[in-house]
Amino acid sequence: MRVVSGIQPTGKPHLGNYLGAIVNYVKLQDEAHAAGGECFIFLADLHAISQPHDPAELTQNTREMVATLVACGVDPSKTVLFNQAQVPAHAELQWLLNGTARMGWLNRMTQWKDKAGKNREGQSVALFTYPVLQAADVLLYQATHVPVGEDQKQHLELARDIAQKFNNDFCPEDAPLFTLPEPYIPPAAARIMSLRDGTAKMSKSDPSDMSRISLTDDADTIMKKIKKAKTDPEPLPSEEKGLEDRAEALNLVGIYGALTGKSVAEVLGEFGGQGFGAFKPALGELLVETLSPINARFMELKDDQESLDAILARGAAQAREHGVPTLDATYKALGLVRGR
Ligand code: ATP
Ligand code: MG
Repeated sequence: MRVVSGIQPTGKPHLGNYLGAIVNYVKLQDEAHAAGGECFIFLADLHAISQPHDPAELTQNTREMVATLVACGVDPSKTVLFNQAQVPAHAELQWLLNGTARMGWLNRMTQWKDKAGKNREGQSVALFTYPVLQAADVLLYQATHVPVGEDQKQHLELARDIAQKFNNDFCPEDAPLFTLPEPYIPPAAARIMSLRDGTAKMSKSDPSDMSRISLTDDADTIMKKIKKAKTDPEPLPSEEKGLEDRAEALNLVGIYGALTGKSVAEVLGEFGGQGFGAFKPALGELLVETLSPINARFMELKDDQESLDAILARGAAQAREHGVPTLDATYKALGLVRGR
């Protein structure tokens, strides 16, 4: 079992990132560790330069993301935790795979279409070839499990296509070079919506800070944001059916469920018939209880630049070592001459 996943160090991580991604990293890290496998979590800083960015902010966000992941339970003694920029094999393998990826495949990627919009000509080449780097990220380590959100499934399928074509074109039939990675979409992966609009997902790029709970919010801020979260005047129903067309109410109940491991029906069994005047404080307190240890640990770590950089350096050294056999074999399969 080899788990590989990445997260971009852009913006402040929020409750959606935590419940939708980071909680699963921690679970998979522990499963992989128990099964004698490996877990690689990297900060996708090379991906971050595909869009306009501020260099000083990228540096700061990279360190803050390490602090956040560690505060949430990613354990650098169980997980190889690093940033792409310290492992040149990611960029090298991307170049080698650029010979295999097809323009037509990349042209079909919905993220490219969404992010480029009407201004394709003005986009960076990096935004277009982003999925090839993502393929390199996972193929380099012969990943078996790649935890991703729904939005990243198409990119992983592309990674499989690239691996398959490379294996067909350059490897003997009985000795394929690349493992075809499986998308792992955890069954209980929560999708957390904006606190201002139950139909939009909670995201780092939403201009309103009131739309999300950041993992660095203090108790007062969390209580205030939940109190002000958009809802409707009806009390909570006793049955799940009663939440149809009540996106905001469903989202708050869903968050409560994700934090306690309960289903929506179970949460309604507890709170059905009660109004938001009772439910919101209960949810707020639960959030404070869950997030305050994370927040405290984050605050302790975030300014300790030396320790954070040491975590990344150590992880990067391990990652470089793990990537060597696959990278060397790729150069060789392509007939590229390199000295010893
Ligand atoms: P941006 O708005 O810049 O795209 P984001 O909030 O979507 O930022 P990402 O860095 O793109 O965050 O995503 C990191 C991880 O968090 C991904 O695995 C993604 O699937 C997951 N994720 C992001 N938002 C949510 C959400 N609202 N609910 C559940 N999972 C989420
Ligand atoms: Mg996103």
